[in-house]
Amino acid sequence: MNLGSLINLESPFSPSFYVVTGILFFLTLENTIPFRAATLSKLRRWRINFSMNFCNVVIIDLCFVYLLRKTTLFSGTHQLNLFEKIHLNSIGRILLTILLLDLALYWMHRLNHKLPFLWRFHRVHHTDLNVDVSSASRFHFGEVTVSTTITYTFMLLMGATLVEVRAFQVALFLMAQFGHSNIKLWSTLEKFLWLVLVPPSMHRIHHSNIKRETDSNYGTIFSFWDRLFGTFTYNVDQDKIIFGLNEFKDPNELTLFKLLKLPFRGLFVRGNASK
Ligand SMILES: [Zn+2]
Repeated sequence: MNLGSLINLESPFSPSFYVVTGILFFLTLENTIPFRAATLSKLRRWRINFSMNFCNVVIIDLCFVYLLRKTTLFSGTHQLNLFEKIHLNSIGRILLTILLLDLALYWMHRLNHKLPFLWRFHRVHHTDLNVDVSSASRFHFGEVTVSTTITYTFMLLMGATLVEVRAFQVALFLMAQFGHSNIKLWSTLEKFLWLVLVPPSMHRIHHSNIKRETDSNYGTIFSFWDRLFGTFTYNVDQDKIIFGLNEFKDPNELTLFKLLKLPFRGLFVRGNASK
């Protein structure tokens, strides 16, 4: 496999290429302009977060890639899709795909916080006691399986092609990494980014241990969904944000094995609410 086939959006491996490139780029920025010093061993957290990412890459790249190709082939040709009804050029189609799938993801993320069963899986992401670029990889495979299935369903309804979905995935992965990065940007640039995109200072609030802040700023790529649907929080002292969930403060309880088991803890015990 050569570099060209990795960068090619039609390659099944292209998202992994951008994920690795994004990690290296944002790691460099974190070392150059860090927001705050780590309070826990980076090596230990990275081992956990990237191990989870490995599970997810196996699921997405190996199990879903065949489905992705088949689904986009079908969605690009059948006559009931959205893109058949509105005529756009290729750039317009890519932008609309990114916009609509990001909107779907906004609501999916909101449901992850509101529905106790989904929160069981999503809270694994929120247990990270430090937040940096590796946190963008910390998702339980159960959550990834559900969100990927829903994304594919939307994609099918829209009639997006493989290239358009790949463009969305690349934008999503890079913006998720950016939003989680432990970097301090210039305040003017941050203010400008808040208007349209989700900079680290906006997503940092979502990782606060204060519930009303955790249950806000759900956007991944665009910030205007939170403004539009009333979940936008901005007036927070960034230096006072404490990351994580109050019920999971002990790093020794946050090993990879325990995190993978976490969604199923007490699942079959009657009346044991998970949130
Ligand atoms: Zn969340």
